[in-house]
Formats: sequence, C-alpha cells, structure tokens
Amino acid sequence: MAKTRVVIALGSNLGDRGEHIQSAAEQIGAIEGVKLVKLSGIMESFAITPAGVDESKPKYLNAVALVDTSLKAKELLAALQNIENQHGRVRLEKWGSRTLDLDIIDFGGQIKAGKELLLPHPRAYQRAFVMVPWAQLDPEAILPGHGSVAELAADLAEDPKQKVWFL
Ligand code: ATP
Ligand code: CA
Ligand code: CA
Repeated sequence: MAKTRVVIALGSNLGDRGEHIQSAAEQIGAIEGVKLVKLSGIMESFAITPAGVDESKPKYLNAVALVDTSLKAKELLAALQNIENQHGRVRLEKWGSRTLDLDIIDFGGQIKAGKELLLPHPRAYQRAFVMVPWAQLDPEAILPGHGSVAELAADLAEDPKQKVWFL
C-alpha cells in the first residue's frame, strides 16, 4: 500500500512531560499502519496563550516525529486523539495547559481545509517549537505554502519569545 510521509508535533506542559512525549512517540509507532521513522531531540519552550507568551505557565517540552503511514489523514488524526485521551488530555480553554498535544503538521504535502482537519497545520509556520525540531530532523523539508523549514526555523529562532532550549 502507498505510504505517506507525515510530520507530527508532540507537546506537553503538565505532569511528567518527558514521559508523556517519549511514551506517546512509542504509541505512535505502534499504531496499525504507522511506522515511526525518526524522533527529534526534545526541547523546551515558553507556554503560549491567546494573550501571547505566558512565562507564568509551565513550560512545554516539544518534539517532532517523522512517520510513514498507510492510513488516511483523518484516520491518523483519530488515532492520535485516542493517544491524547489515554494521556488524560482535557480541553478547558484555548491553548490551555495539557498533558499531551499531537498535531499533524504535514501529511505528504496534502492541502486540506476541512472542519476537523486542516493541512498543513495552519499555525505551524509561526512556531519555532515546531520548525526548529523539524528542521533538525529534515534540513531539506518544505512546508507547503511557506517554503524551507530550515529558513523558517532560523528566522523564528531570532525572536526571544520563541526561544527553544534543547535538552
Ligand atoms: P493549535 O491547533 O493552534 O495547535 P491546539 O493544538 O491546542 O491548538 P486542539 O484543542 O488540540 O488545539 O485541537 C482542536 C482541533 O483542531 C481538533 O479537534 C482537531 O479536529 C483540529 N485540527 C485541525 N487540523 C489539525 C491538525 N493538522 N492536527 C491536529 N488537529 C487538527
Ligand atoms: Ca497544538
Ligand atoms: Ca492539537
């Protein structure tokens, strides 16, 4: 079956953040029809709320995973949401703190503007905590509509509020 290369962003700022990220990466690799190709290093970043960076909120750990899958994008999203739920994810407020967030950043370059699924992820290009680990994994990567991931990462990393610390 045809395989699609997919970029998934992992984030956690509640509980044992490193454990949430590591075990979620393993669970992603164990989804039927998904193969984990590579996981980036884990990094830390400031929490972002709708009001902007909030240094009073617990910091995030972030990583990016490259996977190959025979699933359709919606099937993969459902499997990822299932993993979020297993980590006790609750949604109380927009961009609120969470044990685990799994976002599909790119799905084989597919462009989609559905109600439940937007591809590529519409805000990823503005986020150093996504672009920096993705560029580390794949320096040649292109984000559809936005160009070189390595260039986006380098530009974003100049903003002190977007600072990311590699662990
Ligand atoms: P953001 O999307 O800005 O990173 P968030 O991750 O906090 O915010 P969630 O509450 O996790 O947002 O997700 C809200 C909804 O976004 C989900 O129910 C899902 O249907 C939808 N969604 C749309 N596109 C995507 C995508 N590419 N990856 C993951 N979820 C998506
Ligand atoms: Ca997110
Ligand atoms: Ca999400």
